[in-house]
Amino acid sequence: MIHPDTELRWIDEQIGYGVFVTKPIPKGTIVWIRCALDITMTPAQVQALGEPYQPIFNHFAYFDSADNAILCWDIARYVNHSCNPAMMPVGEEIEIAVRDLLPGDHLTCDYAYCNIPLQCSCGEPNCRSLVQAADLQTNSSAAAKLTQEAIQCSSQVAQALLPFARNKEQANGLLTGQQELPSYSIFHCPTRL
Ligand SMILES: [Zn+2]
Repeated sequence: MIHPDTELRWIDEQIGYGVFVTKPIPKGTIVWIRCALDITMTPAQVQALGEPYQPIFNHFAYFDSADNAILCWDIARYVNHSCNPAMMPVGEEIEIAVRDLLPGDHLTCDYAYCNIPLQCSCGEPNCRSLVQAADLQTNSSAAAKLTQEAIQCSSQVAQALLPFARNKEQANGLLTGQQELPSYSIFHCPTRL
């Protein structure tokens, strides 16, 4: 579930739609949470649906480490990649704003955590050009620092999405630091990236 202070906007023919911020969202805010309405399908279930459904998964789903396809039910499925993303993962079911976001900001994530390989031309100074599994290792210390700094702000900001956590105890544990942030390797699906 995407944060309520966001909306879908058309960008251009190459990128298509994207998710944009409509009201200020401070650093440390949960901007996406995996919720009970998101659809999870195993590789066998995806295959059983057959060819006509494949482009939908290719375009809108992301994949966990076991290659399950997760199809977000709301506009979260339109979130684009950036090599300088607005959100970073806190465990597998939460994405947190890693900087203060203003109305009009493009709400982006890093597709390396979503098992979506990508030739990137996001235009950021730190653009990696190729988004791949190795990023989870090579960028892990910088990513962890960015994420930890955001987590430290999380108790001081409104958390509209926290009630929708599938595992509230785990979500609270990660955000309070009582539960250690798992290694980024938990995201890696060897058959995808
Ligand atoms: Zn890039």
